[in-house]
Amino acid sequence: MDVEFVLSAPDLASRPPRVLPEFAFVGRSNCGKSSLINLFLDRRGMAKISGKPGKTRLLNYFLVDNTYYLVDLPGYGFAKVSKTLRAAWTRLMKAYLFAGDRPLAVIQLLDARHRPSAEDRLMTGWLHKAKLPFAVAVTKVDKVGRNKRGAHYQEIVDTLGLTPETPFFPTSAVTREGAGDLKAWIAAVLAT
Ligand code: GDP
Repeated sequence: MDVEFVLSAPDLASRPPRVLPEFAFVGRSNCGKSSLINLFLDRRGMAKISGKPGKTRLLNYFLVDNTYYLVDLPGYGFAKVSKTLRAAWTRLMKAYLFAGDRPLAVIQLLDARHRPSAEDRLMTGWLHKAKLPFAVAVTKVDKVGRNKRGAHYQEIVDTLGLTPETPFFPTSAVTREGAGDLKAWIAAVLAT
């Protein structure tokens, strides 16, 4: 896999001039987004692990195989951030998800250990509303005992109101599972 960091965009006008399909990864701060992106790209340290929650509000663009962009969206987790920062994040996310001017699909990340938060549900609501192709990637599944995983997955599906059509990928940056399934889904979306 050929990967190239392109740029960090603070707003829509700063997105790369070259238009390609975008696959955006989004989730709560600390949900394991950087770790999953690094696993996916097979590059250690490509996405920065554990920045301060909510601090950066940048769309980070990576060009993959000269074919599509993987976009690392700013993590959310509103408990720790100011109202101003929260409003800025909401504005940027809605502008990005509803722009409609570029081909876009989204991978929403959920930590396998936790019941989805209000912000997680808000995000899923926007994805449904924007009618974007989207998949759910459950992260850190190695942290949940095998016999408990099914119940955790069901809770995520129920809390977010996911339909059976929503692709649902259990992943772990530790066991390295799930990245291949995500790649296959992206290939399928690109082929449509
Ligand atoms: P981000 O804030 O969403 O980018 O999350 P990070 O990728 O920085 O991960 C947050 C924390 O969870 C770090 O301490 C990671 O080492 C840990 N972590 C991330 N993915 C996994 C995983 O698949 N399994 C385990 N056990 N820990 C993980």
